[in-house]
Amino acid sequence: MLRRMDVSAVTLARQVRAGELSAAESVRAALARAREAQARTNAFVTLAEAEALAAAERVDARLAAGEALPLAGVPLVVKDNLCTRGVRTTAGSRMLEGFVPPYDATVVARLVAAGAVTIGKASLDEFGMGSGNENSPFGAVANPLDPTRVAGGSSGGSAAAVAAGAAPLALGSDTGGSVRLPAAFCGLVGFKPSYGALSRYGVIAYASSLDQVGILARDLADVELAFELATGADPFDATTYDLPAAGPPVAIEGLRVGLPRELLSDGFGAAALAAVERAAASLEEQGAELVELSLPSAPAAPACYFVAATGEASSDLARFDGTLFGGRVGAEAAGQEAVMRASRGALFGPEVKRRLLFGTLALSAERYDELYGRALRVRRKLAGELEAALERADVLLLPTAAGVAFELGREEPFEARFQGPAFHTDMATALANLAGLPAVSLPGGTGEGGLPLGVQLMGPARGDRALLGVARHLV
Ligand code: GLN
Repeated sequence: MLRRMDVSAVTLARQVRAGELSAAESVRAALARAREAQARTNAFVTLAEAEALAAAERVDARLAAGEALPLAGVPLVVKDNLCTRGVRTTAGSRMLEGFVPPYDATVVARLVAAGAVTIGKASLDEFGMGSGNENSPFGAVANPLDPTRVAGGSSGGSAAAVAAGAAPLALGSDTGGSVRLPAAFCGLVGFKPSYGALSRYGVIAYASSLDQVGILARDLADVELAFELATGADPFDATTYDLPAAGPPVAIEGLRVGLPRELLSDGFGAAALAAVERAAASLEEQGAELVELSLPSAPAAPACYFVAATGEASSDLARFDGTLFGGRVGAEAAGQEAVMRASRGALFGPEVKRRLLFGTLALSAERYDELYGRALRVRRKLAGELEAALERADVLLLPTAAGVAFELGREEPFEARFQGPAFHTDMATALANLAGLPAVSLPGGTGEGGLPLGVQLMGPARGDRALLGVARHLV
């Protein structure tokens, strides 16, 4: 029987600061639970046991020296596309199997500075490309709530580790839903902030204009605390900024909650729609006003996302050519092109290759206007429609996914995702990335097999704090 980590990060840090247990004890217990979680779910690519124990001792020494540490001794799980100094960071790819970064991603560094201890690097779809954490040379991740199902992707390891009780808090990344979807499938809170609200320094890029670091936890308060500690301008990422200061607590009385028709269509499963209805009813009962509205271009979001993301990926991943970056296959004497071909051919997995080929086509001179250029135009249109919707409403309420976690072995390649539940799930999640908006997935009751469903709140850019304030009324 797995011993779950039931205590929240907020409570655990308070206990460590009060001397009820040491950071070393907290981390030793988390590592034992992480080993059990690993056996059941394969959530981790790397368990950083020795590094975590040494880091915990440093936290205890800092506490003894009188430092105030808001995350004192809190075990943290980090998606394996966020760089961790001295701990290998693979991005879920053979291409980076031996990469040991000499520096921490800014978000990791800020949480570690606050007393958190990284216990391991969580599995992901290779470079973040997937929805079920099955596209990985390190093996699929199973959902701890039902091992025949996926944990969601691409931050599946982060979600599985928290849901299995290894740690209260995890970092993921979200390019088109990869934090919110696994959070929904595992019954957690998953937050993708506004573009630029968390630094991407040290994040191994999938598609730079869509990528955001996100936070997963069982408790909303843990997500808020980690976000407050990690947000703020970073000289290493020019897209970052300081958010406006927090206003007074968000009043629910008179709050306008927008329900976009296209996101509540029949293609979403009945259970997912019922979850949104329950959330809407609860907000209305607390005094909010429901506003029906429309995002006419929303059905174009999945196509727009896949063209934009794969186009950027073909550029972002071009550096992995076996010469300066990434693993090398073949002898140098064979020549540069032969080494590139051999390295990229052998070390990228099939989904990554499909996306890079398509993305290269989308950016090619012959097809640019028809594909990438058009995706940019649709993206601007979608952003405009969302902006108009967020003038009529303070937040939007929508499903996170079309239903509960799907069975292992069922995920289709990206080019087959333009119908059925996969299409609807991509539509619900990709909108926020395309427009750079903050969005949070919250537990929304259960569906088939008693498995969790997610509901999603989305708000205006840089309105992250207010959005989380509204979320408090739904947990
Ligand atoms: N599921 C989406 C995809 O397959 C989103 C992935 C992500 O956010 N990294 O690309």
